[in-house]
Amino acid sequence: PNSLLAATGTTIFTVMSALATRHGAINLGQGFPDTDGPEDVCRAAAEALLDGRNQYPPLTGVPELRAAVAAHNARFYGITADPDTDIVVTSGATEAITACLMALLDPGDEAVVIEPVYDTYLPVIRMLGAVPRVVRIAPPDWRLDRTALAAAFGPRTKAILLNSPMNPSGKVFDAAERAAIAALLAQHDAYAVCDEVYEHLTFDGQRHVPLMTLPGMAERCLRIGSAGKTFSLTGWKVGYVTAPTALGPLVAKAHQNLTFTTAPNLQRAVAVGLAKPDGYFDGLATTMAAQRDRLAAGLAGIGFRVLPSAGSYFLVADYTPLGFTGDDDAFCRHITEAAGVTAIPLSAFYDGPDAPEGYARFAFCKRPALLDEAVARLARHF
Ligand code: PMP
Ligand code: GLN
Repeated sequence: PNSLLAATGTTIFTVMSALATRHGAINLGQGFPDTDGPEDVCRAAAEALLDGRNQYPPLTGVPELRAAVAAHNARFYGITADPDTDIVVTSGATEAITACLMALLDPGDEAVVIEPVYDTYLPVIRMLGAVPRVVRIAPPDWRLDRTALAAAFGPRTKAILLNSPMNPSGKVFDAAERAAIAALLAQHDAYAVCDEVYEHLTFDGQRHVPLMTLPGMAERCLRIGSAGKTFSLTGWKVGYVTAPTALGPLVAKAHQNLTFTTAPNLQRAVAVGLAKPDGYFDGLATTMAAQRDRLAAGLAGIGFRVLPSAGSYFLVADYTPLGFTGDDDAFCRHITEAAGVTAIPLSAFYDGPDAPEGYARFAFCKRPALLDEAVARLARHF
């Protein structure tokens, strides 16, 4: 058997969701909304299913969706992309990340990764025979040390993986950080795989700025979006890559060897979704911010020290003021079993030893009543 996979554990999201189910806990662990996305998008999928759009679609995605991704890029970010060469539809952002890394990395190449790290990044880099160079950021401030970042780049650097808005920290990388990353990419002739699945989930008036929009970066960035997050349909697994024209065909070849195509009916519906008016996208962020505030206030009332979250589905909270003395894994298991609320230990997003301790990640992409019930359960327990 493959030794890297043999050494890979089951993802923390699956582990904690199974534990939540076993204990009848409210699952604020794995990030999925408890209400489905827009009815017109779901209806478009149902219609496409009955209209006979059920055979292999084109390799790079149905034309309507590639055109819709390009139009969405232009509308929100002023990005120009040719739907025929620069856009590839994938089976979720998960596949897109793997396909982009496959398109870029040769064995022995280095890829810079920022910790806390989404759980598929490191295993895929290693499976490709490439070498991760990890830069750590940590709570409570998640400050990116520019010296450490620059030191992670070297002659073998081929790429950086950048997730902003970031899971699990809720960090949105700021203009100075983006500029620093762009300068390093130019200096080292490297690329960025930009995991922007939470692009429409930035809060408090902040707008997402793709790294791709910085001067000289259109040729160096592969930008990834996900219908799962943008339309609250995480089970659909429809993702999309916007690539420089020189790299789009390579991403397509990776996709051809991974899944080849993605459900055509769902693709058609996502095209309908991406064409929705600006109000839809603004409303999604406003609703989510209100849920963030509700959960943050509830947890703070119990005694958690809640860290700010500028984007994503998640907030991170320090539980040590509650007097619990075990590690974060023990804490998340304990509240699942004893309080009936599930969270994810922050240390699961750190690869090396000495991960920050005392923090749990809570998902707030849930209806207010469920968030209130979760807070009430925790309040009864602590
Ligand atoms: N990247 C990040 C940062 C995520 O949080 C997620 C998951 N939800 C994904 C990628 C995967 O997205 P998808 O469900 O579209 O594969
Ligand atoms: N991205 C989701 C999270 O961080 C989970 C996705 C998954 O279960 N793989 O919770």
